[in-house]
Amino acid sequence: MRALFLHAAHDARVAPFNLREKRPDEVMLDVAGVGLCGSDLHYYKDGGIGSAQIRQPFVPGHEFGGWLCEDVPEAGLKRGALVAVDPNRACGHCAHCHAGHFNLCPNVEFIGAPPIDGAMANRIWVPRSQLVALPAHFTPLDAVMLEPLGVAIHAVDLAKPRLLERVALLGCGPIGLLILQVLKAAGAGEVLAIDPQAHRRELAQRLGADRAGASVTELRDWTQGEGAPLVIEATNSPYGFRDAVLAARIGGRVVLVGIPDGDTYTLPAAEARRRGLKIKFSRRMGEVYPRAIALVQNRKVDVASLVTRKFTLEEAPEAFRLHAEDAEGMVKSLIFPNGTDR
Ligand SMILES: [Zn+2]
Ligand SMILES: [Zn+2]
Repeated sequence: MRALFLHAAHDARVAPFNLREKRPDEVMLDVAGVGLCGSDLHYYKDGGIGSAQIRQPFVPGHEFGGWLCEDVPEAGLKRGALVAVDPNRACGHCAHCHAGHFNLCPNVEFIGAPPIDGAMANRIWVPRSQLVALPAHFTPLDAVMLEPLGVAIHAVDLAKPRLLERVALLGCGPIGLLILQVLKAAGAGEVLAIDPQAHRRELAQRLGADRAGASVTELRDWTQGEGAPLVIEATNSPYGFRDAVLAARIGGRVVLVGIPDGDTYTLPAAEARRRGLKIKFSRRMGEVYPRAIALVQNRKVDVASLVTRKFTLEEAPEAFRLHAEDAEGMVKSLIFPNGTDR
């Protein structure tokens, strides 16, 4: 068995891997596919995110699906069935869990966040309660994309777009492009998308953005200098917060989803204060899997178009390297630890 280990910043290696001891409520999965998330890339580029630092080699990967290695009768699932996994295991008894905010639980165990190994490996143990059953025709790609789609659903839940409301969307990476599609499904109006990379702007327009520009200056021109009543930021830039403020109309709402490089925002205070903005930070996701499955099943969200590269496990370090240098044409990369053809 093999896995991809992150040892430190810019140090990803594939090496033999021993599965840890099974815990009582766990089942084994053969990993069918795993997504390379922007957060995984932060571990690779910066060696950590805030207090979550790589202190010993760890296996990333929290967006994944796999084939069950045994029957799970209580869920009506047979050995060999493809399932998705909710990586978030909240404690269930803190004040935040009691309030229903499982994504904010400070005692959370999150698969693929250090020190808990994730799914960039041939096999993984997963708690039964975190298995997500899938419609029969779902592919490994569909299974993987439910987690990032869930992040997008949660962001749009927080944003509460009004019917036909104009929305500024900053960042057309995988999360931004999923937010775009969820916004359209939720009845938002004109979506003005901003991304510095041309291929991402093209994809945004293909997936429903009404306009796509390279910088927030263009967005201000499109709105006669007024800005948008709702702004959703899904970039990896330290200037994402600043740009979100500049894109917002006076009295507008801003939802910040992205994780900035270097874990620091740069923000001109007066621009934010004078607008009297309402600002929310979006953290992971709430109860989203049934809706994520429905959106894929009803084809309201196209997840396959975002996947621009597929890698084997042995090639996974190359995937990290290409994303870290913002190589041309990359949007979402998936890794298939047991091959792409099974
Ligand atoms: Zn993710
Ligand atoms: Zn809790």
